Amino acid sequence: MKNGVMMQYFEWNLPEDGNFWKQLKEDAKHLQEIGITSVWIPPACKGTGTNDVGYGIYDLYDLGEFDQKDTVRTKYGTKEELKEAIEELHKYDISVYFDAVMNHKAGADYTEKFLAIEVDPNNRDAPKSEPYEIEGWTGFNFPGRKGKYSDFEWHWFHFTGTDFNQANGKTAIYEIQGEGKSWADGVDGENGNYDYLMYADIDFDHPEVVKEMKKWGKWVANELNLDGMRLDAIKHINDQYIKEFLDAVREERGQEFYAVGEYWKKDINDLNEYLAAVKYKTDLFDVPLHYNMYSASKKGRDYDMQKLMTDALVTHHPELSVTFVDNHDSQWGSSLESQVESWFKPLAYGLILLMKEGYPCVFYGDYYRIGDNESPHSLIINMLLEARHTYAYGDQHDYFDHPNTVGFVRTGDKEHPGSGLAFLMSNGEDGSKVMNVGKERSGEVWYEFTGNIKDEVTIDDEGNGEFMVEGGNLAVWVKKDK
Ligand code: CA
Repeated sequence: MKNGVMMQYFEWNLPEDGNFWKQLKEDAKHLQEIGITSVWIPPACKGTGTNDVGYGIYDLYDLGEFDQKDTVRTKYGTKEELKEAIEELHKYDISVYFDAVMNHKAGADYTEKFLAIEVDPNNRDAPKSEPYEIEGWTGFNFPGRKGKYSDFEWHWFHFTGTDFNQANGKTAIYEIQGEGKSWADGVDGENGNYDYLMYADIDFDHPEVVKEMKKWGKWVANELNLDGMRLDAIKHINDQYIKEFLDAVREERGQEFYAVGEYWKKDINDLNEYLAAVKYKTDLFDVPLHYNMYSASKKGRDYDMQKLMTDALVTHHPELSVTFVDNHDSQWGSSLESQVESWFKPLAYGLILLMKEGYPCVFYGDYYRIGDNESPHSLIINMLLEARHTYAYGDQHDYFDHPNTVGFVRTGDKEHPGSGLAFLMSNGEDGSKVMNVGKERSGEVWYEFTGNIKDEVTIDDEGNGEFMVEGGNLAVWVKKDK
């Protein structure tokens, strides 16, 4: 996957008109032209309704095929339209990653009665009540699907917790009681034990559940001819299950079946521990780098740019890091709001698209639009994608040596004659930096690819150039007449 680029092909506020799979199909050719090599598609299973982004997941086997939740299609369209979109993407050599929402289920078909205790939301290991009978939404028999693909029916004992007692209308975090039942091991330790996130929380210690979920993983990968998965909310799921699940799907689809997990933590130690626990079988999104970029965008010139890569996942595990600027959760108004300020986005995309390490992911909202608001960044992202595919090859030499102006050199490689670049960004004044692009390049004339700076730079006898950058901007210097 030489210089691959993923696109997260959705944002939170897409229209609910059911036309999205058709739009994706029509866009496949364009995506290839701009240099996208894979897309992460929105969660495609039937949710609680057509206004559900897909994380309120009801039926894993309903990809917009059955009349359930008052609709056949999902927010994005029908299963047939999804299959057509995937076929079209494959025609243009674009891989497709499915958003697998496995932590919970929503919109049960009926209630059941079972024993539960209320727990402290801030410490789920601390009971707030004795066990008593509640009436929870945990019964799933999928009347519209009638057992097609799987006749598995879900009951209260397949879940660890829920958040609503129908008997008295009380909302709380209820830990379901039963022989051997407890919150999962191998989950994030925030709030005591972060197994429970929302809705009816699936119990991955239950053997019937593990068997069924692995069966589903293989089914959906085959049914849609998937190339990989984005694993939702994995800090709330038993890590050993994730490992087992990926082993099962890869046994079916091949070892190259791709996986990236959403483990939303700023702390690199948590990510490092998680990767070790799952034996490095999945990539993770580089959440620490996202937060570094968010801080940099908020603090402006007061942010020390030398720290931008400090304790990023891509610094610790370059081969397992999916670098990204923003996503559907960090965008304004979403649950994990931490949107990188607009002025910094070109710098952020320059960084992730031109550096050697990491598998960069471009956010739909940054490239196209959020709701009706067109993104101002599509032009610069196009340029950076072109620069990535044309020049961003070879080793990287860092110049993170000034609080406001930092950058790196890519040396280029033999397979791409004339490639190589010098990247700079500044969060302060206009600046310049002497960078060495290699003695063998002395005499070459370089220009600034994005058009921000009109001057040219001639590489001296030692291979040095004095490259300039505008304040609050980025600069991408490359050889003229490559
Ligand atoms: Ca869970």
